Amino acid sequence: MASGAYVATPLGRARASALEGKTVIVVGAGVSGLGAARSLANQGATVIVVEGRDRLGGRLYTDWSLGAPFEDGAGWVHGPSDDNPAKRLTDAVGAEYVVTDNDNLVVFGPDGYELDEDRQSEVDDTWYDLIERIDENLELSDTRSLIDAIRYFDSSAAADPGVLWAFSAYTEFSKGGPIENLSAVYFNRDGVFPGDDVVVTTGYDKLLGPLSEGLDIRLSTKVTGITYGGDGVTVTTDKGPVTGDFVICSVPLGVLKKNVIAFDPPLPASYQKSIDKVGFGSVTKLALKFEEPFWDTDVQYFGMMTEPKGRWNYWLNYRTFCDENILLGLSVGAHSPVVDQMTDEEMKADGLAVLRNVWEDDVGEPIAMRATHWYVDPLSYGAYAFPTPGSYPSDYDGLAQPVENRLVLCGEHTIFEYAGTIHGAYLSGLRAAEMVIEEAE
Ligand SMILES: Cc1cc2nc3c(=O)[nH]c(=O)nc-3n(C[C@H](O)[C@H](O)[C@H](O)COP(=O)(O)OP(=O)(O)OC[C@H]3O[C@@H](n4cnc5c(N)ncnc54)[C@H](O)[C@@H]3O)c2cc1C
Repeated sequence: MASGAYVATPLGRARASALEGKTVIVVGAGVSGLGAARSLANQGATVIVVEGRDRLGGRLYTDWSLGAPFEDGAGWVHGPSDDNPAKRLTDAVGAEYVVTDNDNLVVFGPDGYELDEDRQSEVDDTWYDLIERIDENLELSDTRSLIDAIRYFDSSAAADPGVLWAFSAYTEFSKGGPIENLSAVYFNRDGVFPGDDVVVTTGYDKLLGPLSEGLDIRLSTKVTGITYGGDGVTVTTDKGPVTGDFVICSVPLGVLKKNVIAFDPPLPASYQKSIDKVGFGSVTKLALKFEEPFWDTDVQYFGMMTEPKGRWNYWLNYRTFCDENILLGLSVGAHSPVVDQMTDEEMKADGLAVLRNVWEDDVGEPIAMRATHWYVDPLSYGAYAFPTPGSYPSDYDGLAQPVENRLVLCGEHTIFEYAGTIHGAYLSGLRAAEMVIEEAE
């Protein structure tokens, strides 16, 4: 498929002439940055993409070292309907999918024994019921955390290890932040596309090919400063300055929070306030590959009620979609930053301890592993944005407004409706490209 198929709006003469002779610098070659770059290049701009890593994709990267796709970052196409732009991007590269079934789940209690069906239903129903009560009863101006709201509506549920497990394994995973620091009123107000989630068995990051084809992309080039104003923009990098007419900055919220890039002039106070307010958590993935399976290979997910909350509490069984004996564990919430700071060996031991609580001596030594450390990754400093108590959707989308007619931010953290997703990142990139065109016209 021609790259032009990705352009959100038709190429009009006025737009082409607005961009003619203009140079746009895009900082970051993740899905949002590449989406913006592709769109602008297709509409006639000269585009230079500057990327700190030695590869494309940012938080979208498929590793094949285990013999099956291990997605360091995004793993699922959420809501893979035809309206979902991420699905359109993967379809365009001939991706193959497997639907994952959230109900194909077995949960083990703190003692390592499987929950019976009644207890499992009780846990799920209480989790669901609490979310409904919070949604129906709290005003959007409420600044409570999710855990405070749970305590308010059902104090016994807040002390139930099963219910806490469900809020961690389901909610902390999907939102990327701990329930102690998630907004009770905004944690589930984002938009979704219909359809059961799928994994891409041919590798999610293949979608980067058409997005990046033919672009001037400068890898292994870290940006330390962005100067913007009347005359244009200068992007300072460790390989020297790059100048242009406009700059789109797609670095993750974690990077903005750490002030890695010096903006001159500084970002407006309202932007800085939103950068501080919106949360940026972590999610850790640990894949352990074994010679032989010791688990029921027909079960797609295993839940583990672990201590502390968030510790390897949800595992995906690769045998449900490929021949490799791989279990992929997730640490989420407040525990993810803890394990992200471990060495791979320490992380492996921590994950194995959780598996041995259930399968005891049947758990052999893994023959291979892969682990992620997003929290300490200096080009991300976390996994994805989440709403903290007292933050608002406008804190996300306000960040996407052009500054001084020269600078536009994009990335999953700038689009509340689809934050924390590939489709959100992509749409934010297309929107940034549109804003540059408007400024150029
Ligand atoms: C563990 C995990 C699981 C996820 N699961 C899913 C999922 O299942 N489904 C889903 O849809 N989404 C998921 N996501 C979210 C999805 O991956 C992100 O929303 C999306 O990839 C973000 O794209 P982006 O362009 O906004 O940011 P990024 O992909 O992070 O791109 C930003 C780029 O900026 C670069 N950069 C940073 N600092 C500098 C600098 N100083 N100089 C130059 N370059 C710099 C980075 O290297 C990076 O390439 C997950 C993310 C993680 C981490």
